[in-house]
Amino acid sequence: PAAPQAGSKAASLVVSGVRISHPDRVVYRAGAVTKGDLARYYERVAGRMLAHAGHRPLSLKRCPSGMARPCFFQKHVGEGFPAEMGTVDLLEHDGEPARYMTLLDPSSLAAAVQMGALEFHIWGSRNEAVEIPDRLVFDLDPDPSVGFAAVRDAAELVRGALEALGLNAFAMVTGGKGIHVVAPLAPTADFEDVARFAKGLAGRIAASDPDHFVATMSKAKRRGRIFIDWLRNERGQTAVAPYSTRARDGAPVATPVSWTELADLHGANGFGPGDVLDRLAEPDPWAGFEKARAPIDRAMIEAVERR
Ligand code: ATP
Ligand code: MN
Ligand code: MN
Repeated sequence: PAAPQAGSKAASLVVSGVRISHPDRVVYRAGAVTKGDLARYYERVAGRMLAHAGHRPLSLKRCPSGMARPCFFQKHVGEGFPAEMGTVDLLEHDGEPARYMTLLDPSSLAAAVQMGALEFHIWGSRNEAVEIPDRLVFDLDPDPSVGFAAVRDAAELVRGALEALGLNAFAMVTGGKGIHVVAPLAPTADFEDVARFAKGLAGRIAASDPDHFVATMSKAKRRGRIFIDWLRNERGQTAVAPYSTRARDGAPVATPVSWTELADLHGANGFGPGDVLDRLAEPDPWAGFEKARAPIDRAMIEAVERR
């Protein structure tokens, strides 16, 4: 759809078949990003984003009145949700049935924007095999005193550890402070085994360099270190989706990067929606993700748990 004429106030806008109300409402003050801009951003990025974020349980960070106003995290489908937002039924950890949201196609992204979503967070498994993860995430969380160069080095260290065990690793700057190192999995192991592997590997790295890393959540132990947050891999946990905007000043985007370009980045929040749209003309830094899937087997779990 064409952008509204300069100077005109569009009463509404249709993006990916979904009516976007208040398209001129500024949701990010810095950069003056409007709701219409966001809807169009997601329409254009949908191909690359949905390859990673589609067809899996989804949580949204919704900020219906914009970034400056209160936001809330939503996991379940609510009353009167638009049909464009997909649903997936699964069991909560306590065995209770629950209906989660899921992205089916570009219209689901537009429906989320219409509901005020500023962040998309995903499970590590797909709807059709919801108990068997197909992506492993190491969420590197630096203490505020840790510089980005150390986070980059940590990402390379995690990459090396994964590759040594036969997995492949891709890097994403989160739009916040850290880097996510993502391994595409052949879906064979369940959440319990994948989380065991993630915990074992994070623990092994922390034990090998305790001055720089921790693998436990304790804030006190994090001082001056990087927390290798492996807990994203537990059942029911989420990680921010590739190409999601963040509800932070300047509309930073969680951006997949190549390992080569990561080496030259100075922060995790350097890409905004405009930068990411420009990047669509360049080769996909995560090309090869699907072909790179590899399984986590029993021997690998035992290897990381052995000290
Ligand atoms: P950063 O690089 O700044 O750490 P991040 O996305 O990794 O960015 P974390 O604080 O490490 O942010 O959060 C890890 C994950 O926890 C988030 O990506 C999200 O999926 C999940 N999360 C965050 N807030 C909530 C919440 N209120 N409820 C449930 N899960 C949440
Ligand atoms: Mn993080
Ligand atoms: Mn974290």
